[in-house]
Amino acid sequence: MKELQKKDNDIGPLFTWKESKEPTTREQVARFSPATRKYWLNWNNIIMDSVLYQSLIPNNPTDVPKMQLLVPEILRFEILTLCHDSIFSAHFGIKKTTMKIKEHFHWYRMREDIKQHIRQCPSCCKLRKTINNNHAALQNYHVGYPMDRKFNQTLGKMIKSYIDENKRKWDFYIPILMSAYRGTVHPSTGFSPNKLMLGREVNLPHELLYPLPRHNAQKPVNEYVDELRVNMEEIYHVARENLIQSGEKQKRDHDTRIIDL
Ligand SMILES: [Zn+2]
Repeated sequence: MKELQKKDNDIGPLFTWKESKEPTTREQVARFSPATRKYWLNWNNIIMDSVLYQSLIPNNPTDVPKMQLLVPEILRFEILTLCHDSIFSAHFGIKKTTMKIKEHFHWYRMREDIKQHIRQCPSCCKLRKTINNNHAALQNYHVGYPMDRKFNQTLGKMIKSYIDENKRKWDFYIPILMSAYRGTVHPSTGFSPNKLMLGREVNLPHELLYPLPRHNAQKPVNEYVDELRVNMEEIYHVARENLIQSGEKQKRDHDTRIIDL
């Protein structure tokens, strides 16, 4: 990873500057790319721990500052594919895919790349067409409780993304698609179902391929259990607040039919 970052046109110069004792001036940076200049502006949050990361102040007070790997250009397509197209990512929409990628990675104009990747994704394009054609049918679909309906819609779309390739064994993929769902932040609670159930995220392929420094942290079991208890209480508290807020927002958005899978 270090070598790929060093070779990268935008990230490479940061190594030289991090290793240099002298602070880099605005004039020195001016001749570099907009991406390099943007990273430089965030200098204090660019961390060198063998490879380069960006550290982020977390939204949720229970979390330690988030570390995001600075992704060299050559790896971006692979990361987008892992975090959107793979069965562990289940072709989620722009919002959820961005949340997933942001958990772990950062690069200049990442949001634009994610949007473009999803807009051009063949499975998602096909699915959008099918949904538009079947819109009337979907409107007639009734299930008792609104959250059930929303969940069924989500699972239905996830299955449809894979149904063409795996027509005969689509049910075989449900457990894997469910693991993708459980690992994805839910906009209403602000947490993934895994985080709410287990107090932590479950490592997915992109996290195992590109581990962050915090994954190596080891601590005694007692300490872990104590921290987990405190964290879970805090997580539930924040999730409840988010649910109340998103309930109010949903009331306002009712009937606007904005679908972000
Ligand atoms: Zn897709």
